[in-house]
Amino acid sequence: MRLDREKQVKIPTKLSTARGRTEIIAIANQKGGVGKTTTTINLATALVAARKKVLLVDMDPQGNASTGLGSDRGNRDNSIYEILTGEISLAEAVIPTIVPGLSLVPSTVDLAGAELELVNESQRTFRLRKALQDPVIDQFDYILIDCPPSLSLLTLNSLAAAHSVIVPLQCEFFALEGLSLLLRTIETVKSNFNPGLEIEGVVLTMFDGRNNLSGQVANDVRGYLGQKVFKTVIPRNIRVSEAPSHGKPVLLYDYKCSGSQAYIRLARELLRRESSKAA
Ligand code: ADP
Ligand code: MG
Repeated sequence: MRLDREKQVKIPTKLSTARGRTEIIAIANQKGGVGKTTTTINLATALVAARKKVLLVDMDPQGNASTGLGSDRGNRDNSIYEILTGEISLAEAVIPTIVPGLSLVPSTVDLAGAELELVNESQRTFRLRKALQDPVIDQFDYILIDCPPSLSLLTLNSLAAAHSVIVPLQCEFFALEGLSLLLRTIETVKSNFNPGLEIEGVVLTMFDGRNNLSGQVANDVRGYLGQKVFKTVIPRNIRVSEAPSHGKPVLLYDYKCSGSQAYIRLARELLRRESSKAA
């Protein structure tokens, strides 16, 4: 009797992730326009909808993730740039967003200069990893890093700081070539900077069911990477592309549209994968 009751008592983990740690996930692909920022914003929002606490770190000088979450460009005094150059701590740049439960470290165009400024600094690849040692990260279950469209020092910093990578892939003709270059870079980062780095998964984005090429590329990618490809496919959906100009994730802009629903399924799939890995 007593035992039964004890069994029902849930042992609280420090964080509500499968591994009880803050999961740091980089969203990367050196190609621009493949859906990195869209995936980062909307996966973050869908994780918040699943009651996770999430921090989005904008590592792209274009700052699209910051703008897409309603952050005013003129109001970003503390940004990822000052963090990487060591002027401020991570905690000093964390701001709330219009999504309750989703916080942001914004970026500014200054970040484009960080690359050059850090070139002669020691430990230049580990700037972000070091910044993420800030105790403030214990407040979050997930940290999603939106990478720039390049294999630059900023992307290397992101990969060196992350536990895993999600690769958004647009179903188009040269997708596989770009993917193999990225996979090689990930291997290099693993052997030189971050042995624990895992590929969380490839997510097919802007999928157009009416286009034969989309289906063909999707099949090729699944043939090449098998289980590493998320089952969830993000459809091309006009509502997804409209949302950023309203400063909102599509999940707030139009919860019912096919794009929003796909990002909710993607978050569920990610959470399921994490718990099966932790088991
Ligand atoms: P990246 O960050 O890789 O450069 P973005 O996320 O900014 O790519 O996406 C590039 C463009 O495609 C943006 O204008 C975005 O609104 C649009 N887009 C992204 N995903 C979708 C989608 N599922 N359906 C329609 N448009 C999309
Ligand atoms: Mg982007």
